[in-house]
Amino acid sequence: MRLTVLGSGTSVPHPRRSSSAHWLEEAGGTLLLDCSGPAVHRMAEEGCDWANLDAVWVSHFHLDHVGGLAPFLFGTKYAPQTQKREKPLRVYGPRGLEKLLRRFDQANDYGLFEQPFPLEVREVSPRTEFEVFDGLGAETFSTPHTSESLAVRLTERGGASLVYTSDTGYTEALAGFARETDLFLMECSFFRSKPVETHLELEDAMRLARLARPRRVMLAHLYPEWDGVDIPAEARKLWDGETIEARDGLRLEV
Ligand SMILES: [Zn+2]
Ligand SMILES: [Zn+2]
Repeated sequence: MRLTVLGSGTSVPHPRRSSSAHWLEEAGGTLLLDCSGPAVHRMAEEGCDWANLDAVWVSHFHLDHVGGLAPFLFGTKYAPQTQKREKPLRVYGPRGLEKLLRRFDQANDYGLFEQPFPLEVREVSPRTEFEVFDGLGAETFSTPHTSESLAVRLTERGGASLVYTSDTGYTEALAGFARETDLFLMECSFFRSKPVETHLELEDAMRLARLARPRRVMLAHLYPEWDGVDIPAEARKLWDGETIEARDGLRLEV
C-alpha cells in the first residue's frame, strides 16, 4: 500500500496543512480516507488519479472530514475525465451518511446522485468487516469523538495493514483494535493540556502506541499549536518506536 498525505491539518485554516484527507493506493484500487474541502484539489495537485478513484471512506460528519464530498461529486458529475467512466464509486461511512449526502444534494437540487457512473453509498456499523474493493479488507471501530465516528483497519490480502483512527478521544480499546498494525495513522490534535476529551494529545497517542506495538506511527490532524515542535523527537521521549509527522504531500510505502 502506498499512502499520500493530502491534508495533515484540521478545520483551522493553515498555510501548509490542509484539512483531513489521505490517498491510499493498493494493487486492487484506490481509496480516499476522508474528503475535506481542500482534498478535492489536493488530489489533483499530488497527481492522484481522482477520476478513477474506487472508494471513499468517511470517518465522521465533521466538515473538515466530509466537507469536500459534495463538491467532489459535483466535479465528477461534469468533469470531462469522468464522462466515460463505467466502474462504480463506493462511498463508505457511518450510519447517517446517505441522509447527510441527500441533504447536501437537496440544498439546491445539485443532482449529485446522478453521475455518469454508478454511485454507491454504503453505511457501515461499528465492529463490521467489509471489502473495500478486491484485495482490501476493512474493519470498523467506534471511537469516542462524535456518536457516529469510526476508526478503520485496512488489510491487504496477504499483506500490510493500516489503522486510520481519524478524530478520536482516548480509549485503551483502540490499542487492541490497532494491535501490531504496520502503520498506525493516528490523530494527535494537541501537544499537551488538551482542551477537550474528544481528541488526543501526544501522551495519549504514545500510550496507545506502547499498547498497540505498531511497526510505525504517523501523527496527523495537527492543530497550529504544533508549529515549530519537533514531533518525532517529542514522540520518542514517550515511545521508542518510529513516529512520522504527517505533512501535506508526504508519500509512504506501508
Ligand atoms: Zn471531528
Ligand atoms: Zn477533524
